[in-house]
Amino acid sequence: MPEHPDVLIIGGGVIGLTTAYFLARDGVRVRIVERGDFGREASWAGAGILPPGQPVPDLHPYDLLRAHSAALFPILTAELRERTGIDNGYLRCGGLELGAPDPSLEAPWRREGIAFEAVADAALQRLEPALAESLWQAYYLPGMAQVRNPRHLKALQAGCARLGVALQPGCGVQGFERQGSRVVAVRTDRGSLSAGRYLLAAGAWSEGLLQALGWQPGIRPVRGQIALLNTGAPLLRRIVMEGKCYLVPRPDGRILVGATEEDAGFDKRTTVAGIEGLLALARRLVPALADAQLERCWAGFRPGSPDCMPFLGSVPGTDNLYVAAGHFRAGLQLSPATGLLLKELLLGQTLTMPLEAFRLDRGPTAPPGLAFRS
Ligand SMILES: Cc1cc2nc3c(=O)[nH]c(=O)nc-3n(C[C@H](O)[C@H](O)[C@H](O)COP(=O)(O)OP(=O)(O)OC[C@H]3O[C@@H](n4cnc5c(N)ncnc54)[C@H](O)[C@@H]3O)c2cc1C
Repeated sequence: MPEHPDVLIIGGGVIGLTTAYFLARDGVRVRIVERGDFGREASWAGAGILPPGQPVPDLHPYDLLRAHSAALFPILTAELRERTGIDNGYLRCGGLELGAPDPSLEAPWRREGIAFEAVADAALQRLEPALAESLWQAYYLPGMAQVRNPRHLKALQAGCARLGVALQPGCGVQGFERQGSRVVAVRTDRGSLSAGRYLLAAGAWSEGLLQALGWQPGIRPVRGQIALLNTGAPLLRRIVMEGKCYLVPRPDGRILVGATEEDAGFDKRTTVAGIEGLLALARRLVPALADAQLERCWAGFRPGSPDCMPFLGSVPGTDNLYVAAGHFRAGLQLSPATGLLLKELLLGQTLTMPLEAFRLDRGPTAPPGLAFRS
């Protein structure tokens, strides 16, 4: 890698890696620096739920970002598999949203052309026989998908490496060196590194680096705990969601139970209360899970933002610094369109969709009424 790449990306989670991949695919020379190991923070910890979407006109910008991403995910999956031989486990498994019929959910799905069906009683039991009999109403969304986060991150890293991206783990950025409105280098544990343009994609840690530039958008860590159960053989086929909590069945018989939503700073512990709540939920939804093996628990930091929308775009007051951070509960699902749009922005290409709504200086806005709750 030359000393002066075209683009230097700070943060090797799904957002940084996806953007690096798309840039390198267009022939751009990219360096990506990661403080620890690549893809070991929120992007690793997430459940990998990917809601469906159709990029139709007049969607809220957030829903449009989701819809473009939903369309891109299977294409990116196939491309990564071809380029690297790694299967990221993308699976259109379908999902159930538990609860009574709710017109406020149906209207946006209908507008977007998302397939759904209200199911109850025997029809619900036929779809998922292991569900508790007390649960008798749900929406079935056949287009709901999942990805195995660790495998997807491995595929992205391998894809980047094949395309010549310089991947530098163990290299934390401490600040920026500026000449007027231009960033000329980043200060790291290993000395200064310079590039033509810079992208900040440091997830929940982005706020600290933005503060040094005079910006305080309010990106904060929101801890999510997950319990991994193993039933040996698959007990569920579809993702089961109840409000913000969910069971995500993997084809190998494992089931992810998630997730807590806590303001606990950068405290990565799993707690008795957090895991107890998840296990109680699992048993209530699927009584047979009482007998499952509790294989592992973990926690990660979602990069929360005040209005639940990510910050995507240039950093005002600078000529060559950009940000892609604050994806909160949805960074995996929003990563393909985020990576594509940031690539387009950095290269001065026509944008697939406008980014105005995601700008860093948008100020306080009300959280949008979104088509999906989780
Ligand atoms: C429990 C849980 C469940 C979730 N479930 C889902 C889900 O089902 N679907 C979904 O779409 N999303 C889900 N999410 C959210 C999703 O994981 C995040 O939105 C997404 O991973 C954010 O990606 P990122 O690349 O911005 O952040 P991260 O993955 O955190 O990556 C940021 C990287 O930047 C590095 N870094 C930080 N500071 C520096 C520095 N100074 N210098 C260099 N590198 C630095 C970090 O080490 C880290 O690797 C979940 C999250 C959690 C915690």
